[in-house]
Amino acid sequence: MSYENHRYVVMTVDPVHVGTGGMRLGRVDLSIVREPGTNLPKIPGTALHGAIRSYAAYRYGKPRCAGLGQPREGREGHCGRPTCPICYTFGYVRGEDTAQAHSGVVTITDARILLFPVYSMVGPVWVTSLSILENFGIEGQSLRDEGKARWPENLTREGHLNLGWLMVEKDGTLNVSELNFPAGIPQQVRDRIVLISDKLFTQVVNSNLEVRTSVSIDPERGAAEEGALFTYEAIPRATFLWLDVIVDDHRGEFPNKGALERWKGCLQGTDDEAKKELLKRWRLWSEREEDTAKWEEAIGKAQSWVREEKTEENGQEKWRWDTKAMQGVEQTPVGIVSAGLAWAQDLGIGGMGTRGFGRLRKIAEVAQ
Ligand SMILES: [Zn+2]
Repeated sequence: MSYENHRYVVMTVDPVHVGTGGMRLGRVDLSIVREPGTNLPKIPGTALHGAIRSYAAYRYGKPRCAGLGQPREGREGHCGRPTCPICYTFGYVRGEDTAQAHSGVVTITDARILLFPVYSMVGPVWVTSLSILENFGIEGQSLRDEGKARWPENLTREGHLNLGWLMVEKDGTLNVSELNFPAGIPQQVRDRIVLISDKLFTQVVNSNLEVRTSVSIDPERGAAEEGALFTYEAIPRATFLWLDVIVDDHRGEFPNKGALERWKGCLQGTDDEAKKELLKRWRLWSEREEDTAKWEEAIGKAQSWVREEKTEENGQEKWRWDTKAMQGVEQTPVGIVSAGLAWAQDLGIGGMGTRGFGRLRKIAEVAQ
């Protein structure tokens, strides 16, 4: 089993901003990334990849394997070893030489909106659209009139409802039990879902984003810069988004604890053929280099690579896999992704190499 798709539903715990990096003329100074075509805000997979990688690397105790990989400002850059679960999972870049780059075994897609919160006269409701449900895998819903909306019977007895500033009429009853949402989405949210057309959805989302005002701080004086007020957009709190984590583990040599112990045993053992095979796979040795000095050097290097996956905790030497921070982490590429995503819940998706901020909580994993 080398190809798997894992679908996650996440919820924003803060307003989440991932910027385009440029200024956009119009409403705000710092706009967020949008999907071309639909014009809907999204969280780009690259930003998620960067943040998840960094947190996974910190948890595992190898901060050098976080970030973008280029050695700078005293940082060593990615280790790039076959023994490193971070570099194995997310890939690596070594030195300034991008020819030494290696792609990882996971792809993280953009996080796209599934349910978007809006204020209404009956309190918060979460809007969604036909295409959004279909893309997520929920079929069979419809609207008779593209300009109207469907909502559950118990939401309101009125024949109309406001979604922010927009007033919509009722098109019919939405039977939420037909919407096969994963269990992690709370019932109070499901009971407040409003289905609208794709066109209305874009309009409702874009006119109900958070727009905040902030101030630039002069790093030298530690005070506000003059005239430095700026506005930025953000995806509001309690927005539900979904993303896929695709694992294509073609090598099938994920360095879990079992593999590390096996390699350690092999390098200490007496079976030279097995050692040769391992050294060749790790590109530390080739058949042509029959001289003993090179062989000893290669064995020494391989052993040091395995040793790097050990650390000390409370005066005890242990595998990094066995440290407190890694407790409960499944020893697979997707386990590493989950471990990083779990920290985004507390620390947000900003961080090294990532322009953005705001916390995301994993709500559910959807069986594929
Ligand atoms: Zn590494």
